[in-house]
Amino acid sequence: MNCPHCLSAKISKMNTTTKLGYKQYCCYSCAKQYNERTGTKLNNIEYPTEVVMMAIHYYYRFKVSLDDVVELLTMRHISLSHQTVHNWVQIFGVELGLKLQERRKGKCSKKWHDDATYICIKGHWYYLPVPFGYIVPLIIKETWLMFT
Ligand SMILES: [Zn+2]
Repeated sequence: MNCPHCLSAKISKMNTTTKLGYKQYCCYSCAKQYNERTGTKLNNIEYPTEVVMMAIHYYYRFKVSLDDVVELLTMRHISLSHQTVHNWVQIFGVELGLKLQERRKGKCSKKWHDDATYICIKGHWYYLPVPFGYIVPLIIKETWLMFT
């Protein structure tokens, strides 16, 4: 990890951590101290990075309202306002989406294809045109029904 101030590689890891538990470093070139979040948009946020990412993940993954995100985090004993979550979503959500899109570029298409398979139930073969995620629970359920 290079110094975010002068980009020097001559750094030393200090034995101290920040209030949130992030490792602190000292640069030999510019004599400045910094931590893992220095120079990022997360630097001035008083919550751990995991909490910020969890809130954004809840908001986008489950498509719930800001108040629902606050309620989900309250269940984990994290107390926030919906405005805080809104700010995080505005600051980090779009940027994270673009970075994920860059990583996926060329690796998958925008089209989704259903998978299909044949399954045998009581000696009869059936064509099953459903996504794979639904096949396994269905097979387990059908197998369980066969033995009851
Ligand atoms: Zn430096």
